[in-house]
Amino acid sequence: MWVYLSTGYPQRTTSKKGGLSTIEIHLFLLSNHKFMICKFASNPLDQLVITQKFGENPAFYKKYGMNGHNGVDFRTKFPDTPLGRREIYAVDDGVVIKVVRAKLGGYGTYIQISHEDGSMTIYGHQYNPHVELGQKVKAGEVIGISDNTGDSTGAHLHFGYRRASPNMYNGFKGYVDPSSYLNF
Ligand SMILES: [Zn+2]
Repeated sequence: MWVYLSTGYPQRTTSKKGGLSTIEIHLFLLSNHKFMICKFASNPLDQLVITQKFGENPAFYKKYGMNGHNGVDFRTKFPDTPLGRREIYAVDDGVVIKVVRAKLGGYGTYIQISHEDGSMTIYGHQYNPHVELGQKVKAGEVIGISDNTGDSTGAHLHFGYRRASPNMYNGFKGYVDPSSYLNF
């Protein structure tokens, strides 16, 4: 996570034990206009074209016990990747805490990364993860290739974000809208 000072250079926040959590940083930002916004250090893809926003299609996601889409979907089919198989990048430094290889159901083949500030990101519907459980990854590192596995009607990347200590009963299984953390 980066914090941009309005007067100078970006500063890396480490948010270790006893440091500021992501939520605390945001509260500070609201009460002190010297700061602008926290962003992920990297985007999950080299092109961000949203095909489904957070919270959309509540009727479809009712079967998962959710109030709507619990992440953001991005197009991965472009002229240079007609099958929708693009490289997926870790958005921040972290550790891979889950690797699932499945053709059918939910997120299909997906991984989860735990980040230094206690937040977590998920990258769903993959073709082939390039990381193993417990592996340390750096922001911008290739972690897999996108595809159409799981409950998906076309190749895309499902990207989800949980803050530290998420409210698992928020109607989206603890996930929140990651849009404002991405670099469009
Ligand atoms: Zn999705």
